[in-house]
Amino acid sequence: MKSTTPYRGRLAPSPTGHLHLGHARTFWIAARRAANAGGALILRNDDLDAARQRMDFARDMLEDLRWLGLRWDEGPDVGGPHAPYDQSARIPLYRAALERLHASRLIYPCTRSRRDVIEAAGAPHEGGFDDEPLYPASFRPDPGAPLPPLGERIGTNWRLRVPDGERLEFGDTRLGPQSAVAGVDFGDFPVWRKDDCPSYQLACAVDDAAMGITEVVRGGDLVRSTFRQLLIYRALGLAAPAFHHCPLMTDAGGTRLAKRHDSLSLRALRARGDDPASVTAAWESLEPARP
Ligand code: GLU
Repeated sequence: MKSTTPYRGRLAPSPTGHLHLGHARTFWIAARRAANAGGALILRNDDLDAARQRMDFARDMLEDLRWLGLRWDEGPDVGGPHAPYDQSARIPLYRAALERLHASRLIYPCTRSRRDVIEAAGAPHEGGFDDEPLYPASFRPDPGAPLPPLGERIGTNWRLRVPDGERLEFGDTRLGPQSAVAGVDFGDFPVWRKDDCPSYQLACAVDDAAMGITEVVRGGDLVRSTFRQLLIYRALGLAAPAFHHCPLMTDAGGTRLAKRHDSLSLRALRARGDDPASVTAAWESLEPARP
């Protein structure tokens, strides 16, 4: 008999602003895919950005998603077998993963500033997870050089050394086959930051694996992050989930929605009395309910 793993999906909002319609649509697709598969949905609070996040945003995002009609089986507010569901309370897990990467000599400390990297990379870039300037190979230490210890408190950025020239591939459940070449499409990337905080890439891969997520549904801007995370899964000997990258929503002028688009926040829609059912009705064709 064929054994199948029950579907486990997740919503992973960051409490750095109010959720806008673009986030909401991605989360709605994630919820619909979990429901269609008869699976579970996990809500994880990605609260690792101490400089930008706020407690009230964390509270509001759960409230806004509930208003939209979304429900989850596990999360910071409902608990579950993989608690805690706040990333800030999961640091020891990320630290353990970092130590494994260190023991495998796959990472190295990097004292270059972001400005150094941007200047050396030369090409224009936009910033953000998917538009990182390419880290120059000339900035890397020699692979045979002695690796300093991590130390109890980390005060340097640590980067993962990507396998230059290797083509990485995955089959996206919406976009089809995807591929990128390490060292060309993306370079060495941070796994830990000098403020002693894990990077998004590390925390996300560690949590998606630890929480048994079988399909990651997220915005199409994160495809390049997926390749980075695939390297983390591999380095840690973890099985990677399936990935489904959703279309991004733009405003009337064609600009990608961002948290600064306050008029399109769920808060604003609620405040002006919009009906959540008519908001989500517009998305039905993207992920129809399974009969
Ligand atoms: N918290 C991240 C974000 O909001 C999660 C991205 C992801 O789904 O992996 O962008």
